[in-house]
Amino acid sequence: MSRVYNFSAGPAVLPEEVLKEAAADMMDYKGCGMSVMEMSHRSKVFDDIIKTAEADIRELMNIPDNYKVLFLQGGASQQFSAVPLNLMKNKKADYIVTGQWAKKAFQEAKNYGDVVAVASSEDKTFSYIPDCSDLPIREDADYVYICENNTIYGTKFKTLPNTKGKILVSDVSSCFLSEPVDVSKYGVIYGGVQKNVGPAGMVISIIREDLITDECLPGTPTMLKWKTQADNDSLYNTPPCWTIYVCGLVFKWLKNMGGLEEMKKRNEAKAKILYDFLDNSELFKGTVVPEDRSLMNVPFITGDAEKDAKFIAEAKAKGFENLKGHRSVGGMRASIYNAMPQEGVEKLVEFMESYEKENK
Ligand SMILES: *Cc1c(COP(=O)(O)O)cnc(C)c1O
Repeated sequence: MSRVYNFSAGPAVLPEEVLKEAAADMMDYKGCGMSVMEMSHRSKVFDDIIKTAEADIRELMNIPDNYKVLFLQGGASQQFSAVPLNLMKNKKADYIVTGQWAKKAFQEAKNYGDVVAVASSEDKTFSYIPDCSDLPIREDADYVYICENNTIYGTKFKTLPNTKGKILVSDVSSCFLSEPVDVSKYGVIYGGVQKNVGPAGMVISIIREDLITDECLPGTPTMLKWKTQADNDSLYNTPPCWTIYVCGLVFKWLKNMGGLEEMKKRNEAKAKILYDFLDNSELFKGTVVPEDRSLMNVPFITGDAEKDAKFIAEAKAKGFENLKGHRSVGGMRASIYNAMPQEGVEKLVEFMESYEKENK
């Protein structure tokens, strides 16, 4: 068996310890004679898995008691509709558009009400985060929406926007569990888990309890009402059992590593290696303004499409996979999530150095 260094933006690298544990549990989960994939979601064994997973993510993120944690299907994209359906009391929402995922959420919300982009960084190909200290947030806006880490463009909000007292909703898909967060500053935090947490097939939504009500927009599907899911502890219908179980293993792994403070340190150290190289390279350059750089997704270019393509092909041959940038932007992107070891980034930089010498 040989494993590559996988820089995929998602589905993405998982900790080897977790994969080994899942493999060991495959035929017979803790003596119950079946795998987690085969058991009833109403069984005592699974009840224990989901409750433990919830307790562990609560501990990791220090989630206050007045927030619910929901394990939902439909991915992050499903929440693009769930957010307006559940929160639009005045049918007004203000969006900060910092990339394609924010834009998709913004466009989806327009189906349900009066939705305005109060800031955008589209003028410079989403290479920065706009100043959000004094935006024209509307008096009667139901919420302010951000995508906190922009997976495709590699930017991250380093300070949260001033929402002028409005509820903050944040898509954290690609920075989920990468560093500590103050949950109490948000109304809703959600993320698809296949970027930094677990296998595909689930979004985790962390929602302040008072925002979970029966007053959804008329016609809201039962499954998209947060109340349905909250009242049933994410077991209204069959949940993504396997994904919940693997996420639970990742939560244990994070706790064993020292939690999110420690992850932040590791992620900063890893990202620094790559950004320092990019800042000093004569061939490669980063595409994001330094102050808004993501710790998770690092886009870079040579400025020459042919050299980019050659680099990606040669990197792949050396075991550095999935370095191609998003199809909409080209160039390269290294996603260096929690499970990417520092060694992977060091080896990548060594390879970039040698490529630079040969291709300057
Ligand atoms: C990948 C991604 C999404 C879409 O996730 P799905 O689970 O595929 O719907 C949404 N937002 C961000 C920030 C992402 O990185």
